Amino acid sequence: MEKRKANRTDGKGNEVKKVAVIGGGAAGMMAAITAGRCGAQVTVYERNDRVGKKILATGNGKCNFSNRKLGREDYYGGGQILEGCLNRFSPEDAVAFFTDAGMLVKERGGYLYPWSEQASTVLDVLRLEMGRAGAKVRLSEKVEGIAQDRKTGMFALETSLGKGKEFYHAVICACGGCAAPKTGSDGSGFALAKKIGHHVIPVVPGLVQLRCKDSFFKMIAGVRCEAEIKLYDEEGGKNPLREEIGELQFTDYGISGIPVFQLSRHAAYLLAEGKRAEVRMDLLPQMKGADFDKMCAQRIKKAGGKTLEEFLLGMANKKINLMMIKEAGYKPGDDAARLGNERLRMLLYSYKGLKVHISAANSFENAQVTAGGIDMAEVTKNLESIKKPGIYFAGEMLDVDGRCGGYNLQWAWTSGYIAGRGAAN
Ligand SMILES: Cc1cc2nc3c(=O)[nH]c(=O)nc-3n(C[C@H](O)[C@H](O)[C@H](O)COP(=O)(O)OP(=O)(O)OC[C@H]3O[C@@H](n4cnc5c(N)ncnc54)[C@H](O)[C@@H]3O)c2cc1C
Repeated sequence: MEKRKANRTDGKGNEVKKVAVIGGGAAGMMAAITAGRCGAQVTVYERNDRVGKKILATGNGKCNFSNRKLGREDYYGGGQILEGCLNRFSPEDAVAFFTDAGMLVKERGGYLYPWSEQASTVLDVLRLEMGRAGAKVRLSEKVEGIAQDRKTGMFALETSLGKGKEFYHAVICACGGCAAPKTGSDGSGFALAKKIGHHVIPVVPGLVQLRCKDSFFKMIAGVRCEAEIKLYDEEGGKNPLREEIGELQFTDYGISGIPVFQLSRHAAYLLAEGKRAEVRMDLLPQMKGADFDKMCAQRIKKAGGKTLEEFLLGMANKKINLMMIKEAGYKPGDDAARLGNERLRMLLYSYKGLKVHISAANSFENAQVTAGGIDMAEVTKNLESIKKPGIYFAGEMLDVDGRCGGYNLQWAWTSGYIAGRGAAN
């Protein structure tokens, strides 16, 4: 190892801490700003030719950067320390951070956005604040290894440009997970973590569409409807593992939309473990029990002289009605009354429990987040590695994934803040 360069000191003669941040995403930029504000001399290494590429894609370009209604239950993974972390840098702190930097904020039912509704505003604020905190950014430089000098304990980085000559007191790994690899997060951070002895909890795509085995999807592709969906791990199972409600979207290969995203990580883990994943959908969630029975009885009373298509008119989107008729083995022009009351009742009840078999979650290319990651039992409450003190982790690299609704970016801000403070102090 080369000899360490002379360290700078602050005005009081204290040695200035040198901190490297690997990854210029949401978590890395927040870490760099925080460490810089704490007086550290910060260098950010980013493999792309620009920082924050993923931020621009968030919230359909509007960036849902946090959520005021946040609790432990909005996250998976995170171990014992997650709740404490979330309290140390909360959504209120995120709002204060951004408003203090000049960004006005818009709230819709707890969901937080920049007032401009432009994700680029969030990115511009972060870039500006990184500059103000004195952080240097090295673009188009991928970090491939972290070496530690035995004598000094300082770290040097091996990058795509060769062995680094700079030495750092602390390194913050904020490389993201595997989701949306085109934005730079290709899982290389996990390889770095494994090299220093960390256990990575198996990763699967989260907040992603689900592919189904059933053949009727081509008939209903493009249809959106309000639905309650339940995930089961066995055929005919009584107890759903998860249930969600919201706007469902049918595609030609399966199901999408927020409720599907919310339970996708659970389906992906079931399939990764070789288990069955079945989703049952209630396409009329607004009508339950006796109300539904009453509606069925009234409809059946008026079935006389109608075709099946006419009998179902107004139940749901026309494409869904036609699909229901076909799945039940009938034809749209069949005489409804001739089916008899019981079969008509069964046809109406099929809207309350449409069953589909999940064959796969869509890949990381389509996923918004990575479920799994570095085991939180192997980091301190300051997100410092227990295996290699001096190395910190932040963001999606860690085994924390949030529900859809601003929770994942909030985790990036929270963990970036904590790791930045820890590394600088
Ligand atoms: C389409 C889409 C929409 C989303 N919308 C929302 C939303 O509205 N609200 C929300 O809360 N969350 C949203 N998310 C999730 C959220 O964007 C992520 O959870 C968050 O950005 C993760 O931040 P991160 O800094 O941990 O990782 P990333 O943003 O992935 O950043 C990691 C950075 O590290 C760099 N890097 C990786 N490896 C190396 C290396 N070896 N050397 C150097 N650099 C490296 C990458 O190039 C990248 O810039 C969305 C995600 C996607 C894909």
